[in-house]
Amino acid sequence: MSTEKHIHKLKRHTYRSGREVYFCILPDCNFKINPPLALGKRTICHRCHKPFILTEYSIRLVKPHCEACHKSKRIEVHPEVIENESKSEPAQVSNDLRSRLEGSITALLDKSISDEDEDL
Ligand SMILES: [Zn+2]
Ligand SMILES: [Zn+2]
Repeated sequence: MSTEKHIHKLKRHTYRSGREVYFCILPDCNFKINPPLALGKRTICHRCHKPFILTEYSIRLVKPHCEACHKSKRIEVHPEVIENESKSEPAQVSNDLRSRLEGSITALLDKSISDEDEDL
C-alpha cells in the first residue's frame, strides 16, 4: 500500500442530490473534501499542472486552475494600491488603546479603594 505524500489534484463532483464534493483524481487516492473546506488547500492546476493554493475564486471551478492561468487574460495590477495599504500602522493604534485601557483600569481600582475607605 502506497502512503507516499502527493499534492491532490482536485476535481469537483456534483451528486444527484445537488451536494458537491472535491475529490482527488490521482490513482490510488480516495481523498475527498467539501468545496468550502478546500479553501487555502494545495492542489494541482488543471491547466499548467503546477501546485497552487485554492482561492475563493478557484473553489468555484469544476477543474480548478491557478492564479497565473487565470490572470493571463488580464493586465497586471497597479503596485501603488499595495503601497498605500502598507502605510497604516496598526501596531501604534493598538498600543495607544492598550495604554488607555490600562489607565482606566487603574483609575477604577483607585476609585473603589477610596470609596471603601470612606464607607467604612
Ligand atoms: Zn490525492
Ligand atoms: Zn495554472
